[in-house]
Amino acid sequence: MAPGPAAAITGRCLCGSVCYAAAGEPLFALLCYCTDCQRASGTGHVPILGVARAGFTVTGPAVAFRSVGSSGHMAVRNHCARCRSLMFGMPEAAPDLVTIYAGTLDDPGVCRPTRAQFLRSRQPWDPVPADVLHFNDGAPDHDPQSDPAGVQPRSVLLPGGG
Ligand SMILES: [Zn+2]
Ligand SMILES: [Zn+2]
Repeated sequence: MAPGPAAAITGRCLCGSVCYAAAGEPLFALLCYCTDCQRASGTGHVPILGVARAGFTVTGPAVAFRSVGSSGHMAVRNHCARCRSLMFGMPEAAPDLVTIYAGTLDDPGVCRPTRAQFLRSRQPWDPVPADVLHFNDGAPDHDPQSDPAGVQPRSVLLPGGG
C-alpha cells in the first residue's frame, strides 16, 4: 500500500452515540490528578491526550458542562447526552486545544503519558507511574527538551482544571 496520511485519532462514548476524530499527531499526553478531574471522573486521576482544536470533529449529541478551573478560566467537559460518558475537554485557557480523556479513544494506546500533574492532590491509593515527570501543580504541555523550535511552553494549561 502507498503511504497515506496518518491515521486519525478517533474515539467514542460508552453507548456509541457520540464519536470524535482528531486530525494530526497528539500534542502531549499527561496524567491529571487534580481534584476536579477526580470528582468529574470518579477516579484518582485521568489520562489526557492533547490534540489540536483545528480538525477536531464530533458527531452525535455531546453536551458540555462548564466549571471554573484552577486557572480561573472556564473548564469545559464534554459528555455524551445519552450515556453521560466523560469524553473530552475544551479548556478556555487553551482555546487551540482539545483534551481527550484517553479511556474513550478507540486505541487508548496512542496516549503515552510523559508527565503527571497536580500531584499535590493525589490520593494515596492512586500511585504515579515512575517513568513520567512529576509536577505538584500544572505541567507545561511540552517537554522543554522536545519542543520544536519556536513553540513556547504553555504554563497555564490545565486540562482538568481549566
Ligand atoms: Zn453515549
Ligand atoms: Zn485535572
